[in-house]
Amino acid sequence: MIQLHDKYFKRFLSEKEILLAVQRVADQVAADYKDKTPIFVGVLNGSFMFVSDFLKAYPHPCEVSFVKLSSYQGLTSTGIVETLLDLPDNIEGRSVIILEDIIDTGRTLKELVHLFSNTNVKEFKIASLFYKAEVYNGEYAIDYFGLEIPDRFIVGYGLDYKELGRNFREVYQLNQKHMINLVLFGKPGAGKGTQAQFLKEQYNLQHISTGDVFRYNIKNGTDLGTLAKSYIDKGDLVPDEVTIKMLEDEVAKNQEADGFIFDGFPRTVAQAEALDNFLESKDMKINATIALEANDEVLIQRLLERGKVSGRTDDQDKDKIRNRFDEYNSKTAPLKTYYEEQGKFHSVNGIGTIAEITERLTKVIEGL
Ligand code: AMP
Repeated sequence: MIQLHDKYFKRFLSEKEILLAVQRVADQVAADYKDKTPIFVGVLNGSFMFVSDFLKAYPHPCEVSFVKLSSYQGLTSTGIVETLLDLPDNIEGRSVIILEDIIDTGRTLKELVHLFSNTNVKEFKIASLFYKAEVYNGEYAIDYFGLEIPDRFIVGYGLDYKELGRNFREVYQLNQKHMINLVLFGKPGAGKGTQAQFLKEQYNLQHISTGDVFRYNIKNGTDLGTLAKSYIDKGDLVPDEVTIKMLEDEVAKNQEADGFIFDGFPRTVAQAEALDNFLESKDMKINATIALEANDEVLIQRLLERGKVSGRTDDQDKDKIRNRFDEYNSKTAPLKTYYEEQGKFHSVNGIGTIAEITERLTKVIEGL
């Protein structure tokens, strides 16, 4: 186990496994480019070790160069990709092969493809040492890769966590054992959102409220928002496949978090099962599900009060509120048994001052 800044990492790939993967990429490219004298273009900073070992493993005539994209890695207001180290100027009519250390979501790759689309290269190919196929959502098909890896945050062999770790010969993955992942459970109005605000500060957790994400999408008129609105307006649950996909995207966006508070998710057994499978694939797990208990009369009063302040239409109408409770009783309540069977269910009295309830929650978390 090693420590970089505030995080711990454990061994993931040995030097030998890495060099075998490098050799695999070199062999594949060599078979296709023997007589073409390609120009290899490494993408800085992460690829420097890969480029070095790759060239040693590549047996035919070739040239090498580098590009470096801005750390912002986005489009500027002019729509031009910002490069800190620009394209080599001898690439016209040549076979260019990009050497990347890792392809994950494909954001950087998209910019590279854009960058090269303005040039007159003869051919443009991508070779990456590591490839996270499960999270890649770009259109460009990866031409060569050395090793497909799961969606773990990795460092070493050129890759960094906040600039540290690039010098390691091995690759390490973030150790998730120190993570705290909580599900806040309870009926609408139970105080999940309010308590999440305190817990996220106290334990440095990432708060994901599916209700908030839906409302954000509705406000911004996205396709997801339009779809969700019809359900939310009636107080019905949004279909599982939509909600699950959205939740997974939110987790993936926050890879470096010390843990998550899931607020308003899962709300069905299918969502809970999907969450368990998804977390397991990331070497993570739910540590505890904490239910905030309060009776319906208190909850209805709270929601109606909140409706006046927030303007949420689903909080302003007693029929919609009743429907949300019905949805809860039929679809969400069975999760109690689901988490009890895993020994993870904790119940907390949700009536009292905000501070009193925070203290009850803290006690449960400290006892984990
Ligand atoms: P909330 O802010 O948690 O009360 O959620 C508001 C509304 O968003 C709910 O009434 C549902 O229509 C929708 N929603 C939020 N989370 C989920 C979920 N996990 N599954 C299905 N629908 C959800």
